[in-house]
Amino acid sequence: MAKVTLPDGSTLEITDGTTAKQLAEQIGPGLARAAAAAKVNGQLVDLSTPVTADATVQIITLKDDEGLQIMRHSCAHIMAEAICSIWPDTKLVYGPTIENGFYYDIDLDEPIRPADFPQIEEKMREIIKTDKPFIRKEMSRAEALNKLAGDKYKTDNINHADSDTISFYSHGGDFEDLCRGPHLHSTGKVGSLKVMSVAGAYWHGDPTQKMLQRVYGTAWPTKKELDEHLQRLEEAKKRDHRLLGRQLDLFSFNEAGPGFAFIHSKGMIIWNAIVDFWRSVHDKYGYQEIKTPVILNEELWHKSGHWDNYKENMYFTNVEGIGYAIKPMNCPGLCLVYKTRKHSYREFPIRVAELGVVHRHEASGVMHGLFRVRQFTIDDAHIFCIPQQIESEIIGVIELAFEVYRAFGFEDFHIELSTKPIKHIGSDEIWDISTKALKDALEHKRIEYKINEGDGAFYGPKIDFHVRDCLKRSWQLGTIQLDFSMPQRFGLVYTDKDNTEKTPVMIHRAVMGSIERFIGILIEHYGGNLPLWLSPEQAKILPISEKSNDYARIVQDKLKDMQLRCSVDLSNEKINAKIAKAYSEKLPFMLVVGPKEAQSNTVNVRIRGVKETKTVEIDKFIRIAKRKITDKDLDLAF
Ligand SMILES: [Zn+2]
Ligand SMILES: [Zn+2]
Repeated sequence: MAKVTLPDGSTLEITDGTTAKQLAEQIGPGLARAAAAAKVNGQLVDLSTPVTADATVQIITLKDDEGLQIMRHSCAHIMAEAICSIWPDTKLVYGPTIENGFYYDIDLDEPIRPADFPQIEEKMREIIKTDKPFIRKEMSRAEALNKLAGDKYKTDNINHADSDTISFYSHGGDFEDLCRGPHLHSTGKVGSLKVMSVAGAYWHGDPTQKMLQRVYGTAWPTKKELDEHLQRLEEAKKRDHRLLGRQLDLFSFNEAGPGFAFIHSKGMIIWNAIVDFWRSVHDKYGYQEIKTPVILNEELWHKSGHWDNYKENMYFTNVEGIGYAIKPMNCPGLCLVYKTRKHSYREFPIRVAELGVVHRHEASGVMHGLFRVRQFTIDDAHIFCIPQQIESEIIGVIELAFEVYRAFGFEDFHIELSTKPIKHIGSDEIWDISTKALKDALEHKRIEYKINEGDGAFYGPKIDFHVRDCLKRSWQLGTIQLDFSMPQRFGLVYTDKDNTEKTPVMIHRAVMGSIERFIGILIEHYGGNLPLWLSPEQAKILPISEKSNDYARIVQDKLKDMQLRCSVDLSNEKINAKIAKAYSEKLPFMLVVGPKEAQSNTVNVRIRGVKETKTVEIDKFIRIAKRKITDKDLDLAF
């Protein structure tokens, strides 16, 4: 007999060798039907895996992220079989999951075209219909290498495997693929699928290797969820920030500097509104602001470790025969500022913020509008403290981050905590203290989080903040990283109570990440309809004819006196044409004025997204607009 502990803490006695699937059936038929895989002592396994000793077991369903990924990965096997059956010369490389889907890299000389997708999908559906179980077969590394001799891709995969037991999976028929698993219990558990696209991809991302074909697909538990996903993709196309950036004249890119954004004047208004807010929040949370140089001597980057670990992503230059690097991060500069004077424990915590412009080389293939650029501005900050202050400092950063995200209208967050990796520096004691401090801070704030065991940086554990936009896309924005390495490398010290010199704890943190990317995310989240406080132009005054131009100018002056961003359309267009033009600019407010409004000192307000117009006195409109800006109100209606 073995004792199984379930996630709710209850226990169950089972006979040795009971499979996870049988266990799910014992718990309840509903769970057994929904089961996708199981987690035994934290390890994801197939439902057919027997439980042979006391263990904690969690049944994973498609409602869990991990279950969904297992379904998508199982679907990748099915797609691979479908492709191999249509093009028998196909050589398979690998088929991982990605956000919302999966891909399979294949080596096939004949190009697969979108016109082929329906045929692949049909074959996949056939395989799903047979509802054949996924069967795992294990063998030694040597046996596996022997079995796949001559297949350079799969041999390479075996050589990269971290276990000495190599597994293969089949799902009925002759098709079999090298894979560590786990998979769904049977093909019939895959829901609704679609082959999405095909693109070229080098083997191992190495341009000296053969160009493979990467076939992308997606799979969802139900047809309804698949349709909703496809609809969101359509909506995302319309909201593409590169498109809206051009249409709204916010920013541009030029061949003269690929990956370097040119921010236009309207874009700068958004930028400055973000930065003003950033500054006020950091002031409130007790940060000082500094600015450090963009170009610094190469020696510094040897000392910081960037030379050894990050050189490929850095830009270098030479001044008077001396090598310099363009900074990819702000922290080394900050360390030099820290060292300009002595520090005492009494000063801690020290919180230092910097809107640092950094350069990181990205391959030309991966750049994407403002999302992936080569120069960007980090809303960076570093905290120096003693170990006992870690928890309260982390709480402070979490509160600050949530305040910032909410101000921009993001309410759907999730947090991930990454712990000690195998390769790390620093004593186990300091890792334990700081990882516990991170956990305690999250628990203190009653925040649910996911743990990524062993996924921390080699120099310390970290917390990442992800937010979901209105299209349910997840963006990693903020990060909090503890660092046991850099203070030592730079010889940073403080004088402790007992008069001895000690090394402070250093925390790196960013909330928005990159301001450029953050603006891109905001544009897509709002589809260009930015909140009032961020809008480059908050109101446009539209005189119904030339006769009302003077009154329109008076209204404009009044608004400008109160720092509202506005302009008047003095063109000779008809009023409907003026309204249509202002509408395309996605303005929050249009103020239509004619003789009637001039006589009563009013404006006729058209509110973005609201059907009815409203006539109000100018002063009242100004008061309402000002209040909405101060409150960062996302709702324009009044
Ligand atoms: Zn697999
Ligand atoms: Zn840093």
